[in-house]
Amino acid sequence: MSKLSRPRLQSGRGSTSRFVCESRTGQKDMNSQTKVCQNCKNDFVIEPDDFAFYEKLGLPSPVLCPLCRTKYLLAFWVFGRFRIAKSALSGKTIITVLPKSVPFPIYDRTEFVSDAWDPLTYGKDYNSSRPFIEQLVELQSVVPHPHQLGIKNFNSDWADDVWESKDAYLTRSALGLESVIYGYRVLNCKNSIDITMCWDLERSYDCLYCFKSYNLKYSFNSRDCMDSFFLYDCRNCQNCFMCWNLRNQKYCILNQPHSKEDYFKKLEEYNLESRFLVEALKKEMWQHIRQDAVHRQNYNVQTVNSTGNFLNNDKNCYQCYFIEDSENCRYSFRGRSKETIDSAGVLDCEKCAMEVQTGYDYNNLCCLYANNCRFSSYLDNCEECEYCFGCVGLRKKRYCILNKQYTEEEYKKLVEKIKSDMKNRGEWGKFFSLPSAYCGYNLSLAQMMFPMSEDEALKFGAKWEKTSEPRYENTISGDTLPDTIDQVSDEITKQRILCPETKLSYNITQEELSFYREHKIPLPRRHFDWRTLERFKPFSLMVISQKGVCYYCKKEIEHYYSSELGFQKIACLECYQREVA
Ligand SMILES: [Zn+2]
Ligand SMILES: [Zn+2]
Repeated sequence: MSKLSRPRLQSGRGSTSRFVCESRTGQKDMNSQTKVCQNCKNDFVIEPDDFAFYEKLGLPSPVLCPLCRTKYLLAFWVFGRFRIAKSALSGKTIITVLPKSVPFPIYDRTEFVSDAWDPLTYGKDYNSSRPFIEQLVELQSVVPHPHQLGIKNFNSDWADDVWESKDAYLTRSALGLESVIYGYRVLNCKNSIDITMCWDLERSYDCLYCFKSYNLKYSFNSRDCMDSFFLYDCRNCQNCFMCWNLRNQKYCILNQPHSKEDYFKKLEEYNLESRFLVEALKKEMWQHIRQDAVHRQNYNVQTVNSTGNFLNNDKNCYQCYFIEDSENCRYSFRGRSKETIDSAGVLDCEKCAMEVQTGYDYNNLCCLYANNCRFSSYLDNCEECEYCFGCVGLRKKRYCILNKQYTEEEYKKLVEKIKSDMKNRGEWGKFFSLPSAYCGYNLSLAQMMFPMSEDEALKFGAKWEKTSEPRYENTISGDTLPDTIDQVSDEITKQRILCPETKLSYNITQEELSFYREHKIPLPRRHFDWRTLERFKPFSLMVISQKGVCYYCKKEIEHYYSSELGFQKIACLECYQREVA
């Protein structure tokens, strides 16, 4: 999700909209329709509310099921792998997650937004005898793209989609950080390493989906906790070790209260300084999560009339995941928006469909990495544009088609013609073609959420990135690293370590080493991206609705835990409240 702090375009919001907002109850009667997904061949239902949405936006009903649509859109969202490159404009050294395989030139972001080049020089005439998206993708493949997302950072070159942060290193998708290493999707965190989907953490390590906590380690789904290890679904706990479903506790081990003295004595015996023992404890914790912890049927808080998981303060949202402060959205994946359907990673967008990684857009269709754009379709990497159609890399433009400037009248006429041609070809309402994604499926968010093998991805129509890693002399295997940090000398920062799992090499920075020493954390033995992806894995098993029964009252419930997780005690909201609170 892109965070931009520039002001929105002012005029015309609302009253001049060509999108007429109807009440959801007052719409005409349309029955649901069952279709076969063109990709997975499963049946899927297009609900009356879907039809209403697509009709309002002038789009045909979809040919892919919601899950395949989400996979499709997420394939355009780059996770990537950090690499050093040169800006194609100035030769300046840049660090980017875009792979070498992209066809377009990569410009340093500040150069990309400067007047040193003019995207209109790439303008093309529309050729009515050829598919439009094909022409768009050709344009996309020659127009320069910025090397990364994110502004207002200090000492954070090794970052992508990171905003207003200081000393962020090898971190992606973040805002307001200070000294965070290997973060992914983190907000307002400080002095922490290896944190994923976390907000307001300080001095924490190896956490997933934790919030407002201090000195928390190896924990998942916990908030308002302090000085604790291996927590799952704990709230307001302090000095707790390997606990689940606890509220307002101190000095607990395996959910049992201890005296302060006993607690620290036992903690000592666990020997958290050993990598070998920490890994065994992680496995043990997952056993408790599987067998003993009570799992709320969903992770939703403050939601009204909504379905999906990881919803926060949402109203009338249908099959949405990881969205917050949103209203009337359908099939939205990560973000914050209104009246939007089929989106992935949108921030403050309204009345949009099929958008990936966009921010502050209004009434757009099929846009990719567009910011602050309105009344436009098929944009890639455009900013502050309105009434543009099929454009790439434009800033502050109106009435452009395929990066060519038209008058208002010409624009309207040509757009009608293109739309009509697209409709005739069955092209209208389709997103950019999958091979035009900046990276292969395996380096996109789609792989994180919905992993595929190379064959599956190719069959899906996506690319697969064959990455070649530079060969380093004298690497040591991660598995041969010392078991505890006190056996490690400063020399380690000069050493390249080979991850036995990924065959990628990594190193330990001085800052990192200091953190490990201070917290007595053993060195990581795997590549940082592998660690992030491993940590993230449970989420990929919590984003498909499942029918089940409450473990306690046997009532039928809709939950989101795949059977692969092996969770024994999945509870309806009432039973969860009773068991856990
Ligand atoms: Zn499907
Ligand atoms: Zn129940």
